Amino acid sequence: MINTVSMPEQLKEGVLEYARSGYPNEVLLLLRGKVKGETAFIESLVIPPFARGSSNRAYFNRLALPADRSLVGSIHSHPSGVALPSTEDLLYGYGPVIMIIGYPDEVRAFDKNGKMLNVIFTNENM
Ligand SMILES: [Zn+2]
Repeated sequence: MINTVSMPEQLKEGVLEYARSGYPNEVLLLLRGKVKGETAFIESLVIPPFARGSSNRAYFNRLALPADRSLVGSIHSHPSGVALPSTEDLLYGYGPVIMIIGYPDEVRAFDKNGKMLNVIFTNENM
């Protein structure tokens, strides 16, 4: 069971910038990394194939995704600012970790049951 998500501060800044550039549309990125014990370590962000945003939802073609076990989940923005997963987010989330950006700068993580996970932002330069 994952209870913590660890993400480099730099990636957080990158994804927030991406969300700002997409605003008022929703943006979605895939999370690449690995799970060790109860922590998911996010190592990079992947732009999904055939991504397109709308004001309501970010779509991507799940069938076009390569079978890639290094993908641990996804992160998408809620331009409304409410960083809580919708029913669809939980049903159709890709991978065990569902991260949500409450526009403009709140980042939260949930598991597939909608349970909130701890999020740790790490500074690799330390
Ligand atoms: Zn959502």
